[in-house]
Amino acid sequence: MRIATLSVGDELICGQVTDTNAGTIAAALLNQGLRVQRHAVVGDNEHDIIGALLELARASDVVIVTGGLGPTADDVTARAAARATGRRLVLNEQAKAHLLEMSGHFTSLIVNPQNDKQAMIPAKTTLIPNPTGTACGFQLMHSGSYMFFLPGVPSEMTRMLHNSVLPFLAERVTGKRVIRTVQLNVFGPGEPEVDEILAGIVRPEQGLQMGICVTFPWMRITLRAEADSDDQAAALMLPAVRQVRERLNEYVFSEGETTIDETVAELFVQQGLTLALAESCTGGMIAQRVTSISGSSRYFLEGVVTYSNAAKNRRLGVDAALLAEKGAVSGEVASAMAKGVRDAAGSALGLAVTGIAGPEGGTEEKPVGTVFISLAAPDGCWTKRFQFNGSRGEIRTMTAWMAIDWLRRYLLKKSVADG
Ligand code: ATP
Ligand code: MG
Repeated sequence: MRIATLSVGDELICGQVTDTNAGTIAAALLNQGLRVQRHAVVGDNEHDIIGALLELARASDVVIVTGGLGPTADDVTARAAARATGRRLVLNEQAKAHLLEMSGHFTSLIVNPQNDKQAMIPAKTTLIPNPTGTACGFQLMHSGSYMFFLPGVPSEMTRMLHNSVLPFLAERVTGKRVIRTVQLNVFGPGEPEVDEILAGIVRPEQGLQMGICVTFPWMRITLRAEADSDDQAAALMLPAVRQVRERLNEYVFSEGETTIDETVAELFVQQGLTLALAESCTGGMIAQRVTSISGSSRYFLEGVVTYSNAAKNRRLGVDAALLAEKGAVSGEVASAMAKGVRDAAGSALGLAVTGIAGPEGGTEEKPVGTVFISLAAPDGCWTKRFQFNGSRGEIRTMTAWMAIDWLRRYLLKKSVADG
Protein backbone atom coordinates (compact mmCIF):
# COMPACT_ATOMS: atom_id res chain seq x y z
CA MET A 1 0.00 0.00 0.00
CA ARG A 2 1.56 3.27 -1.13
CA ILE A 3 0.82 6.07 1.32
CA ALA A 4 1.46 9.80 0.98
CA THR A 5 0.90 12.66 3.42
CA LEU A 6 0.30 16.32 2.66
CA SER A 7 0.57 19.16 5.18
CA VAL A 8 -1.14 22.42 4.27
CA GLY A 9 -0.32 25.78 5.84
CA ASP A 10 1.57 28.97 5.09
CA GLU A 11 3.02 28.82 8.60
CA LEU A 12 4.63 25.47 7.73
CA ILE A 13 6.38 26.58 4.57
CA CYS A 14 7.45 29.84 6.22
CA GLY A 15 9.10 27.96 9.06
CA GLN A 16 6.95 29.58 11.77
CA VAL A 17 5.48 26.26 12.83
CA THR A 18 7.23 22.91 12.68
CA ASP A 19 5.34 20.27 10.74
CA THR A 20 4.82 17.75 13.53
CA ASN A 21 1.70 16.22 11.94
CA ALA A 22 3.79 14.49 9.28
CA GLY A 23 5.91 12.74 11.92
CA THR A 24 2.92 11.83 14.08
CA ILE A 25 1.15 10.22 11.13
CA ALA A 26 4.26 8.40 9.86
CA ALA A 27 5.00 6.97 13.32
CA ALA A 28 1.38 5.88 13.89
CA LEU A 29 1.26 4.15 10.52
CA LEU A 30 4.60 2.45 11.08
CA ASN A 31 3.20 1.00 14.29
CA GLN A 32 0.60 -0.69 12.13
CA GLY A 33 3.18 -1.98 9.69
CA LEU A 34 2.49 0.74 7.13
CA ARG A 35 5.10 3.03 5.69
CA VAL A 36 4.68 6.54 4.31
CA GLN A 37 6.41 6.73 0.93
CA ARG A 38 6.08 10.40 0.27
CA HIS A 39 5.38 13.61 2.12
CA ALA A 40 4.66 17.04 0.71
CA VAL A 41 4.05 20.47 2.20
CA VAL A 42 2.22 23.34 0.51
CA GLY A 43 1.00 26.76 1.62
CA ASP A 44 -2.63 27.85 1.95
CA ASN A 45 -2.90 28.33 -1.79
CA GLU A 46 -5.74 26.65 -3.65
CA HIS A 47 -3.79 26.15 -6.85
CA ASP A 48 -0.85 24.55 -5.06
CA ILE A 49 -3.11 22.31 -2.96
CA ILE A 50 -4.96 21.08 -6.05
CA GLY A 51 -1.65 20.33 -7.78
CA ALA A 52 -0.30 18.40 -4.82
CA LEU A 53 -3.56 16.46 -4.30
CA LEU A 54 -3.69 15.31 -7.92
CA GLU A 55 -0.06 14.35 -8.03
CA LEU A 56 -0.17 12.41 -4.76
CA ALA A 57 -3.46 10.70 -5.61
CA ARG A 58 -2.02 9.50 -8.90
CA ALA A 59 1.05 8.00 -7.26
CA SER A 60 -0.50 6.62 -4.05
CA ASP A 61 -3.23 4.36 -2.73
CA VAL A 62 -3.78 6.55 0.31
CA VAL A 63 -3.34 10.31 0.79
CA ILE A 64 -3.68 11.86 4.24
CA VAL A 65 -4.03 15.64 4.24
CA THR A 66 -3.90 17.88 7.32
CA GLY A 67 -4.56 21.59 7.75
CA GLY A 68 -6.59 24.35 6.20
CA LEU A 69 -10.07 23.23 7.26
CA GLY A 70 -10.58 26.16 9.62
CA PRO A 71 -13.14 28.96 9.55
CA THR A 72 -10.89 31.71 8.25
CA ALA A 73 -10.62 32.85 4.65
CA ASP A 74 -7.08 31.55 4.33
CA ASP A 75 -8.20 27.97 4.99
CA VAL A 76 -8.97 26.66 1.50
CA THR A 77 -8.30 22.91 1.67
CA ALA A 78 -11.96 21.85 1.41
CA ARG A 79 -12.48 23.99 -1.69
CA ALA A 80 -9.28 22.70 -3.25
CA ALA A 81 -10.36 19.11 -2.51
CA ALA A 82 -13.70 19.75 -4.23
CA ARG A 83 -12.07 21.29 -7.30
CA ALA A 84 -9.35 18.65 -7.55
CA THR A 85 -11.82 15.78 -7.44
CA GLY A 86 -14.61 17.35 -9.51
CA ARG A 87 -17.09 17.70 -6.66
CA ARG A 88 -19.32 20.57 -5.63
CA LEU A 89 -18.74 22.28 -2.31
CA VAL A 90 -22.04 21.99 -0.41
CA LEU A 91 -23.35 22.82 3.03
CA ASN A 92 -23.17 19.55 4.93
CA GLU A 93 -26.03 19.35 7.43
CA GLN A 94 -24.24 16.89 9.66
CA ALA A 95 -21.15 19.09 9.79
CA LYS A 96 -23.37 22.11 10.51
CA ALA A 97 -25.06 20.27 13.37
CA HIS A 98 -21.65 19.35 14.76
CA LEU A 99 -20.53 22.95 14.49
CA LEU A 100 -23.60 24.14 16.42
CA GLU A 101 -23.14 21.51 19.07
CA MET A 102 -19.47 22.35 19.52
CA SER A 103 -20.20 26.05 19.75
CA GLY A 104 -22.32 25.20 22.78
CA HIS A 105 -19.18 23.71 24.34
CA PHE A 106 -17.04 26.70 23.51
CA THR A 107 -19.03 29.62 24.84
CA SER A 108 -16.50 31.99 23.31
CA LEU A 109 -17.35 30.80 19.82
CA ILE A 110 -20.04 32.83 18.17
CA VAL A 111 -21.58 31.09 15.20
CA ASN A 112 -21.58 33.44 12.27
CA PRO A 113 -21.66 32.96 8.50
CA GLN A 114 -17.89 32.77 8.52
CA ASN A 115 -18.10 29.69 10.76
CA ASP A 116 -20.61 28.15 8.39
CA LYS A 117 -17.66 27.83 6.06
CA GLN A 118 -16.46 24.91 8.17
CA ALA A 119 -19.62 23.02 7.24
CA MET A 120 -18.97 23.48 3.53
CA ILE A 121 -17.71 20.05 2.52
CA PRO A 122 -17.23 18.50 -0.92
CA ALA A 123 -20.27 16.47 -2.02
CA LYS A 124 -20.20 12.67 -1.98
CA THR A 125 -17.74 12.37 0.86
CA THR A 126 -17.88 10.64 4.23
CA LEU A 127 -17.49 12.89 7.26
CA ILE A 128 -14.77 12.13 9.78
CA PRO A 129 -16.02 13.16 13.23
CA ASN A 130 -13.92 15.59 15.26
CA PRO A 131 -14.78 15.04 18.93
CA THR A 132 -12.70 17.96 20.18
CA GLY A 133 -12.95 20.70 17.55
CA THR A 134 -15.34 22.46 15.24
CA ALA A 135 -13.94 21.36 11.87
CA CYS A 136 -15.08 17.93 10.71
CA GLY A 137 -12.75 15.98 8.50
CA PHE A 138 -13.89 14.07 5.43
CA GLN A 139 -12.77 11.26 3.21
CA LEU A 140 -13.34 10.44 -0.42
CA MET A 141 -12.06 8.24 -3.18
CA HIS A 142 -10.40 9.72 -6.23
CA SER A 143 -8.52 8.02 -9.07
CA GLY A 144 -8.25 4.83 -7.07
CA SER A 145 -6.86 6.57 -4.02
CA TYR A 146 -8.41 6.93 -0.54
CA MET A 147 -8.06 10.56 0.46
CA PHE A 148 -8.46 11.75 4.06
CA PHE A 149 -8.73 15.41 5.06
CA LEU A 150 -8.08 16.26 8.69
CA PRO A 151 -7.74 19.58 10.56
CA GLY A 152 -4.26 20.93 11.23
CA VAL A 153 -4.50 21.25 15.02
CA PRO A 154 -2.18 18.43 16.14
CA SER A 155 -4.34 17.15 19.03
CA GLU A 156 -7.52 17.05 16.91
CA MET A 157 -5.69 15.51 13.98
CA THR A 158 -4.13 12.77 16.13
CA ARG A 159 -7.42 11.79 17.68
CA MET A 160 -9.20 11.59 14.33
CA LEU A 161 -6.30 9.62 12.85
CA HIS A 162 -6.58 6.98 15.57
CA ASN A 163 -10.39 6.96 15.79
CA SER A 164 -11.18 6.92 12.10
CA VAL A 165 -8.32 6.74 9.61
CA LEU A 166 -6.22 3.93 11.07
CA PRO A 167 -9.17 1.58 11.70
CA PHE A 168 -10.39 2.22 8.15
CA LEU A 169 -6.98 1.39 6.69
CA ALA A 170 -6.45 -1.62 8.95
CA GLU A 171 -9.51 -3.27 7.38
CA ARG A 172 -8.24 -2.76 3.88
CA VAL A 173 -4.55 -3.40 4.10
CA THR A 174 -3.24 -6.29 2.11
CA GLY A 175 0.24 -7.75 2.20
CA LYS A 176 0.90 -6.13 5.53
CA ARG A 177 4.34 -6.65 7.02
CA VAL A 178 5.19 -6.71 10.69
CA ILE A 179 7.43 -3.81 11.61
CA ARG A 180 9.01 -3.77 15.05
CA THR A 181 11.14 -0.95 16.38
CA VAL A 182 13.30 -0.72 19.47
CA GLN A 183 14.83 2.55 20.57
CA LEU A 184 17.95 2.66 22.73
CA ASN A 185 18.96 6.01 24.22
CA VAL A 186 22.63 6.80 24.55
CA PHE A 187 24.68 9.49 26.27
CA GLY A 188 28.45 9.91 26.15
CA PRO A 189 30.14 9.03 22.90
CA GLY A 190 29.83 11.04 19.68
CA GLU A 191 27.99 9.91 16.58
CA PRO A 192 31.05 8.70 14.58
CA GLU A 193 32.24 6.74 17.61
CA VAL A 194 28.87 5.05 18.05
CA ASP A 195 28.73 4.29 14.36
CA GLU A 196 32.12 2.57 14.60
CA ILE A 197 31.26 0.67 17.79
CA LEU A 198 28.08 -0.70 16.20
CA ALA A 199 29.54 -1.53 12.81
CA GLY A 200 28.39 -4.84 11.36
CA ILE A 201 25.42 -5.48 13.65
CA VAL A 202 22.64 -4.79 11.18
CA ARG A 203 22.02 -6.47 7.86
CA PRO A 204 19.59 -4.38 5.83
CA GLU A 205 19.22 -7.19 3.27
CA GLN A 206 17.74 -9.38 6.02
CA GLY A 207 15.15 -6.79 6.95
CA LEU A 208 16.94 -5.13 9.84
CA GLN A 209 17.83 -1.46 9.84
CA MET A 210 19.52 0.86 12.27
CA GLY A 211 19.36 4.63 12.49
CA ILE A 212 21.21 7.06 14.74
CA CYS A 213 19.45 10.32 15.55
CA VAL A 214 21.35 12.92 17.53
CA THR A 215 19.29 15.17 19.81
CA PHE A 216 21.89 17.26 21.63
CA PRO A 217 23.43 16.14 23.86
CA TRP A 218 22.20 12.55 23.61
CA MET A 219 21.23 10.25 20.79
CA ARG A 220 18.65 7.67 19.88
CA ILE A 221 19.54 4.43 18.21
CA THR A 222 16.55 2.95 16.44
CA LEU A 223 16.51 -0.65 15.32
CA ARG A 224 13.76 -1.58 12.89
CA ALA A 225 12.95 -5.14 11.92
CA GLU A 226 10.58 -5.86 9.05
CA ALA A 227 9.27 -9.39 8.53
CA ASP A 228 6.23 -11.46 7.64
CA SER A 229 5.42 -12.47 11.20
CA ASP A 230 5.94 -11.36 14.79
CA ASP A 231 8.23 -14.33 15.43
CA GLN A 232 10.44 -13.53 12.46
CA ALA A 233 10.64 -9.88 13.48
CA ALA A 234 11.60 -10.89 17.01
CA ALA A 235 14.24 -13.30 15.72
CA LEU A 236 15.84 -10.44 13.82
CA MET A 237 15.47 -7.90 16.57
CA LEU A 238 16.45 -9.61 19.80
CA PRO A 239 20.06 -10.57 18.94
CA ALA A 240 20.66 -7.12 17.47
CA VAL A 241 19.37 -5.34 20.58
CA ARG A 242 21.53 -7.60 22.74
CA GLN A 243 24.63 -6.80 20.70
CA VAL A 244 24.01 -3.06 20.74
CA ARG A 245 23.53 -3.17 24.49
CA GLU A 246 26.68 -5.25 24.97
CA ARG A 247 28.87 -3.01 22.86
CA LEU A 248 27.59 0.31 24.19
CA ASN A 249 27.18 -1.02 27.72
CA GLU A 250 26.79 1.82 30.24
CA TYR A 251 26.37 4.43 27.52
CA VAL A 252 22.81 3.17 27.06
CA PHE A 253 20.72 4.94 29.68
CA SER A 254 17.24 3.79 28.68
CA GLU A 255 14.99 2.17 26.14
CA GLY A 256 11.94 3.67 24.39
CA GLU A 257 10.56 6.93 25.68
CA THR A 258 12.13 6.73 29.15
CA THR A 259 14.29 9.80 29.85
CA ILE A 260 17.62 9.76 31.66
CA ASP A 261 15.95 11.71 34.48
CA GLU A 262 13.36 8.95 34.89
CA THR A 263 16.09 6.29 34.83
CA VAL A 264 17.97 8.08 37.61
CA ALA A 265 14.78 8.54 39.60
CA GLU A 266 14.10 4.82 39.44
CA LEU A 267 17.63 4.01 40.59
CA PHE A 268 17.31 6.38 43.56
CA VAL A 269 14.10 4.70 44.64
CA GLN A 270 15.63 1.24 44.21
CA GLN A 271 18.74 2.15 46.19
CA GLY A 272 16.95 4.08 48.91
CA LEU A 273 19.61 6.81 48.82
CA THR A 274 19.06 10.55 49.20
CA LEU A 275 20.47 13.49 47.26
CA ALA A 276 21.43 17.12 47.76
CA LEU A 277 22.71 19.46 45.06
CA ALA A 278 25.03 22.46 45.03
CA GLU A 279 24.91 24.20 41.67
CA SER A 280 26.83 27.16 40.38
CA CYS A 281 26.99 27.50 36.58
CA THR A 282 23.78 25.50 36.01
CA GLY A 283 21.76 27.85 38.23
CA GLY A 284 19.31 25.18 39.38
CA MET A 285 18.86 23.28 36.11
CA ILE A 286 19.78 19.99 37.75
CA ALA A 287 17.36 20.53 40.64
CA GLN A 288 14.67 21.48 38.14
CA ARG A 289 15.18 18.21 36.28
CA VAL A 290 15.33 16.08 39.41
CA THR A 291 12.11 17.61 40.76
CA SER A 292 10.31 17.34 37.43
CA ILE A 293 9.89 13.65 38.23
CA SER A 294 6.90 12.85 40.37
CA GLY A 295 7.94 11.11 43.57
CA SER A 296 11.35 12.84 43.71
CA SER A 297 10.57 14.00 47.24
CA ARG A 298 11.40 10.47 48.32
CA TYR A 299 15.11 10.98 47.62
CA PHE A 300 15.75 14.66 46.85
CA LEU A 301 16.34 16.63 50.05
CA GLU A 302 17.53 20.03 48.85
CA GLY A 303 19.42 22.02 46.26
CA VAL A 304 21.24 25.32 46.54
CA VAL A 305 22.39 27.70 43.83
CA THR A 306 25.60 29.09 45.24
CA TYR A 307 26.64 31.53 42.57
CA SER A 308 28.94 33.89 44.46
CA ASN A 309 32.03 32.99 46.43
CA ALA A 310 30.34 34.36 49.54
CA ALA A 311 27.41 31.97 49.04
CA LYS A 312 29.74 29.01 48.53
CA ASN A 313 31.42 29.93 51.78
CA ARG A 314 28.33 30.80 53.81
CA ARG A 315 25.96 28.04 52.63
CA LEU A 316 28.39 25.20 51.98
CA GLY A 317 31.27 26.06 54.25
CA VAL A 318 33.76 26.24 51.41
CA ASP A 319 36.90 27.77 52.91
CA ALA A 320 37.37 31.41 51.82
CA ALA A 321 41.12 30.84 51.57
CA LEU A 322 40.56 27.86 49.26
CA LEU A 323 38.25 29.95 47.05
CA ALA A 324 40.86 32.71 46.90
CA GLU A 325 43.71 30.33 46.20
CA LYS A 326 42.15 27.88 43.70
CA GLY A 327 39.29 29.96 42.31
CA ALA A 328 35.56 29.13 42.34
CA VAL A 329 35.99 26.98 39.23
CA SER A 330 38.38 24.33 40.49
CA GLY A 331 38.35 20.71 41.49
CA GLU A 332 39.10 21.57 45.10
CA VAL A 333 36.14 23.94 45.36
CA ALA A 334 33.84 21.50 43.51
CA SER A 335 34.59 18.72 45.99
CA ALA A 336 34.28 21.10 48.94
CA MET A 337 30.86 22.12 47.58
CA ALA A 338 29.76 18.49 47.18
CA LYS A 339 30.91 17.54 50.67
CA GLY A 340 29.51 20.76 52.09
CA VAL A 341 26.02 20.27 50.71
CA ARG A 342 26.04 16.60 51.69
CA ASP A 343 26.93 17.55 55.30
CA ALA A 344 24.43 20.39 55.45
CA ALA A 345 21.58 18.29 54.07
CA GLY A 346 22.50 15.04 55.76
CA SER A 347 22.02 13.25 52.44
CA ALA A 348 23.72 10.11 51.21
CA LEU A 349 24.93 11.83 48.06
CA GLY A 350 26.06 15.39 47.48
CA LEU A 351 26.54 16.52 43.90
CA ALA A 352 28.17 19.82 42.92
CA VAL A 353 28.92 21.60 39.67
CA THR A 354 30.98 24.71 39.06
CA GLY A 355 32.17 26.03 35.71
CA ILE A 356 32.54 28.82 33.20
CA ALA A 357 29.50 28.88 30.90
CA GLY A 358 30.73 31.94 28.99
CA PRO A 359 30.77 33.63 26.64
CA GLU A 360 32.84 35.85 28.99
CA GLY A 361 34.97 34.88 31.93
CA GLY A 362 37.33 32.40 30.30
CA THR A 363 41.09 32.48 30.82
CA GLU A 364 43.93 30.65 29.14
CA GLU A 365 44.17 28.26 32.03
CA LYS A 366 40.40 27.88 32.40
CA PRO A 367 38.75 28.60 29.06
CA VAL A 368 35.00 28.94 28.58
CA GLY A 369 33.46 25.49 28.94
CA THR A 370 35.70 24.42 31.83
CA VAL A 371 33.46 22.58 34.28
CA PHE A 372 34.13 20.60 37.44
CA ILE A 373 31.67 18.03 38.69
CA SER A 374 32.02 16.42 42.07
CA LEU A 375 30.09 13.64 43.75
CA ALA A 376 30.42 13.06 47.49
CA ALA A 377 29.14 9.68 48.66
CA PRO A 378 29.50 7.43 51.71
CA ASP A 379 32.28 5.50 49.95
CA GLY A 380 34.30 8.40 48.60
CA CYS A 381 34.36 11.69 46.74
CA TRP A 382 35.00 11.87 42.97
CA THR A 383 35.80 15.04 41.10
CA LYS A 384 36.51 15.53 37.42
CA ARG A 385 37.36 18.37 35.10
CA PHE A 386 35.47 18.62 31.78
CA GLN A 387 35.97 20.81 28.76
CA PHE A 388 32.65 21.43 27.00
CA ASN A 389 32.09 23.39 23.80
CA GLY A 390 29.31 25.54 22.47
CA SER A 391 27.12 28.41 23.52
CA ARG A 392 26.36 29.33 27.11
CA GLY A 393 23.12 27.38 26.85
CA GLU A 394 24.82 24.31 25.43
CA ILE A 395 27.54 24.31 28.08
CA ARG A 396 24.96 24.57 30.85
CA THR A 397 22.80 21.84 29.31
CA MET A 398 25.81 19.57 28.86
CA THR A 399 26.89 20.17 32.47
CA ALA A 400 23.45 19.23 33.79
CA TRP A 401 23.38 16.11 31.61
CA MET A 402 26.84 15.01 32.67
CA ALA A 403 26.00 15.55 36.35
CA ILE A 404 22.82 13.50 36.03
CA ASP A 405 24.72 10.82 34.14
CA TRP A 406 27.26 10.71 36.97
CA LEU A 407 24.44 10.00 39.41
CA ARG A 408 23.14 7.29 37.08
CA ARG A 409 26.53 5.62 36.79
CA TYR A 410 27.17 5.74 40.53
CA LEU A 411 23.76 4.26 41.34
CA LEU A 412 24.11 1.65 38.60
CA LYS A 413 27.49 0.44 39.90
CA LYS A 414 26.05 0.26 43.38
CA SER A 415 23.09 -1.76 42.19
CA VAL A 416 25.41 -4.13 40.29
CA ALA A 417 27.62 -4.45 43.38
CA ASP A 418 24.58 -5.01 45.62
CA GLY A 419 22.98 -7.44 43.24
P1 ATP B 1 -9.06 24.73 12.62
O1 ATP B 1 -10.47 24.42 12.34
O2 ATP B 1 -8.74 24.44 14.05
O3 ATP B 1 -8.64 26.10 12.19
P2 ATP B 1 -7.45 23.87 10.41
O4 ATP B 1 -7.54 22.63 9.62
O5 ATP B 1 -7.77 25.12 9.72
O6 ATP B 1 -8.22 23.66 11.75
P3 ATP B 1 -4.99 25.14 10.51
O7 ATP B 1 -5.68 26.46 10.56
O8 ATP B 1 -4.30 24.84 9.26
O9 ATP B 1 -6.00 23.99 10.85
O10 ATP B 1 -4.02 24.96 11.71
C1 ATP B 1 -4.49 25.04 13.04
C2 ATP B 1 -3.32 25.00 14.01
O11 ATP B 1 -2.60 23.80 13.85
C3 ATP B 1 -2.32 26.12 13.77
O12 ATP B 1 -1.81 26.56 15.02
C4 ATP B 1 -1.25 25.46 12.96
O13 ATP B 1 -0.02 26.09 13.14
C5 ATP B 1 -1.25 24.04 13.51
N1 ATP B 1 -0.81 23.13 12.46
C6 ATP B 1 -1.34 23.02 11.21
N2 ATP B 1 -0.70 22.09 10.49
C7 ATP B 1 0.27 21.59 11.29
C8 ATP B 1 1.29 20.59 11.12
N3 ATP B 1 1.42 19.93 9.97
N4 ATP B 1 2.11 20.33 12.14
C9 ATP B 1 1.98 21.01 13.31
N5 ATP B 1 1.05 21.95 13.54
C10 ATP B 1 0.21 22.25 12.54
MG1 MG C 1 -4.24 27.03 8.28
